[in-house]
Amino acid sequence: MLPMPSLIRHLNCVTMAPRTPGSMTPARMVAHCLLVEGPDGLALVDTGFGTVDIAEKRMGRAFVGLMAPSLDPAETAIAQVRAAGYDAADVTDIVLTHLDLDHAGGLGDFPAARVHVFADELAAARARTSPKEKNRYIEAQWAHGPSWVEHTVAGEEWLGFSSVRTVTENVLMVPLQGHTRGHCGVAVRRPSGGWFLHAGDSYFNHGEKENPPTCPSGLRMFQAMVQMDKKARHANADRVRSLHAEHGPGSGASEIVTVFCAHDAVEFDALADVTD
Ligand SMILES: [Zn+2]
Repeated sequence: MLPMPSLIRHLNCVTMAPRTPGSMTPARMVAHCLLVEGPDGLALVDTGFGTVDIAEKRMGRAFVGLMAPSLDPAETAIAQVRAAGYDAADVTDIVLTHLDLDHAGGLGDFPAARVHVFADELAAARARTSPKEKNRYIEAQWAHGPSWVEHTVAGEEWLGFSSVRTVTENVLMVPLQGHTRGHCGVAVRRPSGGWFLHAGDSYFNHGEKENPPTCPSGLRMFQAMVQMDKKARHANADRVRSLHAEHGPGSGASEIVTVFCAHDAVEFDALADVTD
């Protein structure tokens, strides 16, 4: 797969409108995914919800009530892959930041793809040992039996991060545990130079990557409520903040990294029309 990405598109695969306490208007959240096009096929980073999630509301009543997802079939990754002129079978690889229901839902729409995930994450999703994990992981989303490619946390260095796993020379899995046990970021080399880092759910609001970090209180509470490892989550959010300070656009670094998380609409809107 992917000797060198020739085009990277930013897809929003679920719009959500959660009501935050004390606010009259609902917040807008997205599920920011990447479609990476290379000469030998396509790769997705995260998948949002899939067609069955939307048809059967597989994410459950509690999630639908809290997050108010749009449930628009046109937002699914498969619909957007087809709109780009491709077919499901063209997607050879999917790299997941983690297996939460709003990231893994689209797997079944690409049954032939290899699915890259950290082994700790897959083990946690299969075992579902805690109440939080019983809620966040939906086994039906991978009941079709994907060809999993399990990666261990060990290996290379990348811009100050250690134990980075190389999927290809141009796609790296960067360990960012805390939100879940095997959560990672995914770095993709941009054809125009530098990198994107899809930081998954390691933070939720664009203000968190600035110094000093800011985050609406409702979102801060939500992140604490769903985290699996508080210490690791905060340590990794700090590392992502340092990376943004040292390598972000405008830093003057030789290797520029554009960092974004999965659910922040401001970050998505800034990148939605960027194709490179
Ligand atoms: Zn998420």
